[in-house]
Order: sequence, then structure tokens, then C-alpha cells
Amino acid sequence: MGKVLSVTEAVNVLLQGQIVGLPTETVYGLGADATNETAIAKVFKAKNRPSFDPLIVHVSTLAAVKEIAELSEAAEQLFLAFSPGPLTVVLPKKKTIPDLVTSGHPTVAVRIPAHPVMLEVLQSSGLCIAAPSANPFGFASPTTAFHVLDQLGTKISGVVDGGPCSVGIESTIVDMSSDVPKVLRL
Ligand code: AMP
Ligand code: MG
Repeated sequence: MGKVLSVTEAVNVLLQGQIVGLPTETVYGLGADATNETAIAKVFKAKNRPSFDPLIVHVSTLAAVKEIAELSEAAEQLFLAFSPGPLTVVLPKKKTIPDLVTSGHPTVAVRIPAHPVMLEVLQSSGLCIAAPSANPFGFASPTTAFHVLDQLGTKISGVVDGGPCSVGIESTIVDMSSDVPKVLRL
């Protein structure tokens, strides 16, 4: 049964392949180790999310972006201008990210979020964290820890309470995986 977790507790749970609600500046995410297929499968199951809907992977540094994706010069400029923040960039993926995360696409969506609690979880776990919004498929994205427990509490290990989300809507997504940049979500 889900409850409010400290950062240390959330990191331990993530390292054990469990799933937890995590605050970001956009909305609360349902986080899992992006390299652990069993953990990723739990995210799809808890959300009742169709397997063809790929997840965004969260990292805390540009160096970490390069570990999971091919970073072009133009994409790097985009990260330098808008990250950490509510910008997700789609890039050619490296093998470290399982196909389950990207729904079989050869690309991966990556974001460096700006929320201090999420950054602390990323840094102290050393993980890349796949985190779609922490709501059942088809429901509104949660912007408080209470919303997360209310909607998914019985299906997750818990949630880290980072306060209400300052942005409150999903990140902008730009596809930089080919020569022409494409805005996929405003
Ligand atoms: P969210 O539901 O906010 O976690 O955002 C996930 C959305 O990001 C998906 O529904 C897709 O629209 C988009 N997305 C994630 N990965 C990719 C990808 N590899 N290529 C294109 N769009 C992606
Ligand atoms: Mg969503």
C-alpha cells in the first residue's frame, strides 16, 4: 500500500525494481529504473497504459543523456538553453534503454527535470528514471502527492511529496532524431 516516502526510501525502492510517485515541476511522475524491464512492466501495468505509448526517461545531467542517447550538436544546444526544465527531447536511443521503454521505437524521449527533489532522487540513485504521469491511463495528470496516492496508492510503493507542481502541465516534446526538428507536443 502506498504511503509518503523520504528521498532515501524512494531511492531504495527504485533500486529494488519497485515503482514510486515522484514530483517534477510539470506533473507527478510514476518512476521506475529505466534499465530494468521488470520495473518498467510494473509502470505500464499500474497505469493500465497501452504498451505502444512510450515513456519519457529522466536524467540529471547532459552526460547522462549521452549514456542513453545519441546527442547531436543541435540537440545539445536545445538542452543547454532549456534544461533543467519542462522540455523533452526525442533522440536516437542507445542499447542501455530497453525497447519496452520506447515501445519498440529506435528513439528515446529524454528530459532533465528542474524539480530539486526529483534531481536529488536521480543523483543519489544514479539511475535514469522512466516516469510517465502518475495517473491511471485516461485520467488527469496529478499535481500533488495526494492526487498520486488517491489515484494509484494501492498499486505503488509510495510517493515522495515535493509539494504542488509549479508548471502543472506536461512537458514540451521536440523530436531531434532527424535533420528537421519537430515539435510533437506544445
Ligand atoms: P507522458 O505521458 O507525459 O509521460 O509523455 C509520453 C509521451 O511522450 C508519449 O505519449 C509520446 O507522445 C511521447 N514520446 C515518448 N517517447 C517518444 C519517442 N521515442 N518518440 C516520439 N514520442 C515519444
Ligand atoms: Mg500522461
